[in-house]
Amino acid sequence: MQVYKFGGASIATPERVRALLPIFEEAPQPVIAVISALGKTTNALEEIVAKACKGEKDAAMELAHNLEQQHLDYSKELLNDASYAKAKDALDVYFTELHWGIDGASAERYDYSYDQIVCLGELLSTLIISFYLREQGFPFEWVDVRDVLRTDDTFRDAKVNMEYSQKRAQEVIGKLLEAGKCVLTQGFIGSTADNASVTLGREGSDYTAALMAAMLHADAVTIWKDVEGLLNADPRLFRDTVKIEAISYHEVIEMAYYGAQVIHPKTIKPLQNNGIPLYVKCFLDKSLKGTVIQNEVRDATYPPIIVWKQDQVLVQATTKDFSFITEDNLSDIYEIFHKLNIKINLMQNAAISFVACVDRREDKLQKLIAALDVNYKVLRNENVSLLTIRHYTPEVVFDLTKNKVVLLEQKTRHTVQVVVM
Ligand code: ASP
Ligand code: MG
Repeated sequence: MQVYKFGGASIATPERVRALLPIFEEAPQPVIAVISALGKTTNALEEIVAKACKGEKDAAMELAHNLEQQHLDYSKELLNDASYAKAKDALDVYFTELHWGIDGASAERYDYSYDQIVCLGELLSTLIISFYLREQGFPFEWVDVRDVLRTDDTFRDAKVNMEYSQKRAQEVIGKLLEAGKCVLTQGFIGSTADNASVTLGREGSDYTAALMAAMLHADAVTIWKDVEGLLNADPRLFRDTVKIEAISYHEVIEMAYYGAQVIHPKTIKPLQNNGIPLYVKCFLDKSLKGTVIQNEVRDATYPPIIVWKQDQVLVQATTKDFSFITEDNLSDIYEIFHKLNIKINLMQNAAISFVACVDRREDKLQKLIAALDVNYKVLRNENVSLLTIRHYTPEVVFDLTKNKVVLLEQKTRHTVQVVVM
């Protein structure tokens, strides 16, 4: 059994969906398709949430109507008249849920309200695609994944109850597969024991695909993307990227840790624990070989892998009386970061100062600086970037930093990190 994951870009337009048919034709049977919301729907839903929680319910409702119309137009273009009529009835149910979500939204329960609204993107997209696939002769069963994935109530970042979810996956999806059916379901969403909808964190569909694979003992997962495979750098930021043919789970975890937005960071663990390979393939040209992510890659030699984290701030705390930074100071400083839930992307301490590179989140930074200011003199450098290069060579480091001011540099055997301005 295989799990195929399709992201928002792969189904952004009806033409794109039509072009996926050969992939479904050749899919080894049975297959579970895990699908994201259409194109940028999740962003649009986030805007609706923001308005609804501010109390601007009419404005939220207007945005909702636009989004609904887009889904109807899309369905009309994709489906024949008979399937369109059925799809419209099915979609209506979720449009009503959207209106309820807007009515009930409040700033006090922002994250809860967010999940009740944002979860609908995946429900709408999967319904439309399931009608299309059935119309084209692919008998996919549509499953509401909220009946399968049970989570806690950490809204927007829900933690999955694996034991319960696995039992449900076997009862609901396993049965369909045994009966020779294929299954189509939503990525990114789940539900609590009280039947509230939840989301698993942005871009969480990869993670859903991995969970399904682990719970149902799949042979492999394939993530279909608009790039050739896993590249050594973000092609939107760098020219001359190279595709990596095979890479270990470990290496991908390292990349995600340093901020590469390739695969949702939680995806790897369930696959690694179960030894399930993950393929990254291109939906625009399925004949391309793609990348395989697996346990050990024998004699692996990787190209320099580059992760460029923008929107960083470098914060420096210096003792006010020029005393040395001791373990005592460090423990105080870490406590402050920990309490404010601020992730340190890079840090270094010197005789009388401590430096940390963090994401630019103005609200959190204000609090951080106020807390550090009690005992330290605080300086900050705005608008810096953090460049991480795994498997670096001196030439690559030189090349990537040559026109920049280097504020901080750290090297280990495999990794160099540079804060630049
Ligand atoms: N639709 C969600 C998002 O855009 C989940 C996903 O695409 O994986 O974040
Ligand atoms: Mg996506």
